[in-house]
Amino acid sequence: MALCTECEAEIVLDASTEIGEIIQCPDCGLDLEVLSVQPPELAPAPEEEEDWGE
Ligand SMILES: [Zn+2]
Repeated sequence: MALCTECEAEIVLDASTEIGEIIQCPDCGLDLEVLSVQPPELAPAPEEEEDWGE
């Protein structure tokens, strides 16, 4: 089980979840990238339309 980085909702990772997969928080709808499966670790997925140039 992992926690949403935005709203801290508990998210259960499916057994078939793989690192790099994007899952959506059922609570706030935020896209989360799976950084690690064991232990579960999530990070906000980068928005593809966003330009990283800063
Ligand atoms: Zn959330």
